[in-house]
Amino acid sequence: MFTKEDKIRLIETLSNANGPSGFEDEVIGIAAGVAGDVCDASRDRMNNLYLKRRDNGGGRPVIWLDAHSDEVGFIVQAIRPNGTLAFLPVGGWNNANVPSSKVRVRNEDGVWVPGIVAAKPVHFMSAAERGKAPEFSDMSIDIGACSAKEVEEKFRIRVAAPVVPDVACEYDDEHDLFLGKAFDCRVGCAALLDTLYRLAGEDLACDVEATLTSQEEVGERGASAAAGRMKHADVCVLFEGCPADDTFTPDYLIQAGLRRGPMLRHFDVCMITNPRFQRWVLDLAKEKDIPVQEAVRAGGGTNAGIIHKQEYGIPCVVIGIPVRYIHSHHGYCTLEDYESAVRLAVAICEDLTAEKLAEF
Ligand SMILES: [Zn+2]
Repeated sequence: MFTKEDKIRLIETLSNANGPSGFEDEVIGIAAGVAGDVCDASRDRMNNLYLKRRDNGGGRPVIWLDAHSDEVGFIVQAIRPNGTLAFLPVGGWNNANVPSSKVRVRNEDGVWVPGIVAAKPVHFMSAAERGKAPEFSDMSIDIGACSAKEVEEKFRIRVAAPVVPDVACEYDDEHDLFLGKAFDCRVGCAALLDTLYRLAGEDLACDVEATLTSQEEVGERGASAAAGRMKHADVCVLFEGCPADDTFTPDYLIQAGLRRGPMLRHFDVCMITNPRFQRWVLDLAKEKDIPVQEAVRAGGGTNAGIIHKQEYGIPCVVIGIPVRYIHSHHGYCTLEDYESAVRLAVAICEDLTAEKLAEF
């Protein structure tokens, strides 16, 4: 069982970890280390991490827990003669949110070098350029070098270097607020690990296996590969850092507000959630007095979009921990919502039986 301090430290550590899509190694290294006491860990060539509970007995239905390990970031496209870096987005960014922010660029030695996302200063803009968000092709990452030679020889940065926001996670205990990057989906990764710890030593009616999947932000590529190895699963419970909408949405439409519990989606553009599984989980939350929010999402897309279509169909529920301003440098989430998410996942694993499963 994690103490409150353990949880805060784990969320901070995972938030700070550098892991844009395709480069999740740091995240899965941390997770494998944490899970090592209660699970057997292995990795595949897509950078998916598999965690198998040591208490699993075999011959029972399998609950699959998933969270994605990657975060939205950038990649160096070219080194300009003036020493600045041309770059592309990795995952879904609003380009208006990108200029003037600090980033870190991984060099050849694995050192993360700080830089600034630069756009043309206002003094040099034409009237037409002012007030418009620049395109990625008009932005640069400036690491303070003056020539391409300096970038390559002194900073040891090459084309294709991965880039992440340069943000250090902070927890405000008085107000229960995390402020940091990559809570989509690192807060979900922490919740998954916490769930496995809380279940340690328990005798369950189902076995529990988990994945931290790679490359979700570029189209659920890790989950597509993991689904082959996990096709024996009977259901899947996915953790997400989901986009909070409570700061810009009329009250009646809010589906993911901070401190209202995890969001369970009935529908998004990639999945119609199995209504029987979803109902059972919602009823379970009510019975256990766990706050949840229900959503019918006009957008959205998660690993569940891939997983629910595998084999003979794997019913999925997505437990979304609300995060304000995901896919930008800074977000807010709370320990309160995290706790509710973990309690719900633990309750699912404790209460699900082969008989209930047959009804989904
Ligand atoms: Zn996500």
